[in-house]
Amino acid sequence: MFFRPTWCEVDVAAIRHNVRAFRRVLSPEVEIMAVVKADGYGHGALLVARAALEAGATRLGVATLDEAVQLRDAGLTAPLLVLGPTEGRHVEEAFAREIAVTVFDADTVAAAARAAERRGWGAVHLKVDTGMGRVGVRDEAELVALYRRALETPALRVEGLYSHLACADEADPSFSVDQHDRFRRFVARLEQEGLPVPSLHLLNSAGALRFRAWAYRFVRIGISLYGYYPSDHARAADVPLRPALTWKTRVAFVKDVPPGTPISYGAAYRTPEALRILTLPVGYADGFSRLRSNRGHVLVRGRRAPIVGRVCMDQTMVAVPRDWDVRVGEEVVLLGTQGTERIDADEIAREMGTISYEVLTLIGKRVPRVPV
Ligand code: PLP
Repeated sequence: MFFRPTWCEVDVAAIRHNVRAFRRVLSPEVEIMAVVKADGYGHGALLVARAALEAGATRLGVATLDEAVQLRDAGLTAPLLVLGPTEGRHVEEAFAREIAVTVFDADTVAAAARAAERRGWGAVHLKVDTGMGRVGVRDEAELVALYRRALETPALRVEGLYSHLACADEADPSFSVDQHDRFRRFVARLEQEGLPVPSLHLLNSAGALRFRAWAYRFVRIGISLYGYYPSDHARAADVPLRPALTWKTRVAFVKDVPPGTPISYGAAYRTPEALRILTLPVGYADGFSRLRSNRGHVLVRGRRAPIVGRVCMDQTMVAVPRDWDVRVGEEVVLLGTQGTERIDADEIAREMGTISYEVLTLIGKRVPRVPV
């Protein structure tokens, strides 16, 4: 139940379609981990997770233990991995719920071993840094030492060994090739030491679209689950995607104004001619960025209407010609398709100087997500 008519519709069939699009091009032994961090990239983690699992994903990845706990508490039983760092003192909370954590330092491995002993269950994925420069073991000998420490505790399963590509969405593949080579060296070192090689995973969406030979055991699909290609360089004709999210609102107020009328804060816009101004109940506190002031568009009656004046915290004005018979209550599309027109997260990202990921995850908590 919500009173303000501003909401996101999440097309769960599109999520399923996108999972199946990857499923069709991946070898049967490669599992899909649906990355549903940041509340399912703004779509609603629970509904996305359910749809992805129905369509053939077998595991879930999130950024934080809090996100993982929410999904477990909601009743999801699929294998769940926290991709970001988890503090050692909280690892037992993860294991208590059969949530696997990512480890890359000795203290956390020791904490995980203790927690697994106490609980009788524990699972970790070792992370190596092959070029992302964020988290991960950087040294082969250190990886061997961490792995040996983990193996000392029978209750602690080392489920995976993985890394993350930093440039898979860029035109030049050479950085990714170097990262893969580095990943192979870590794996080769474990083999030389006579250690069992855990399940390997390296690819994000861009990687899975471009470098399928490196799919190994799991691929971690995030942005493309939601229907977006990571960039113009990371597309694949055999993986057709359908964006899942449409952001809508309804016109709250209509007024006809003469030329020269100031609109919104700073009077930074003045109508160049007689126009019809629509006020929309959405603003930057909803993630409708202020960077779009006087730049972006919305869809009204299947056509584009420019955002005029500064986007306010909770309201935004758009202009239409006087002969568009727009009434209060009329549906407006902020992101998505209306008729034959479309404004997608990539277009909005270009306007804002960012990427679709940020546009989607910026959509605020007070905007209800409605599965359709
Ligand atoms: N794997 C890890 C470790 C990540 O941090 C992310 C997200 O950034 C993903 C996979 C999914 O990436 P993408 O959304 O580009 O598919």
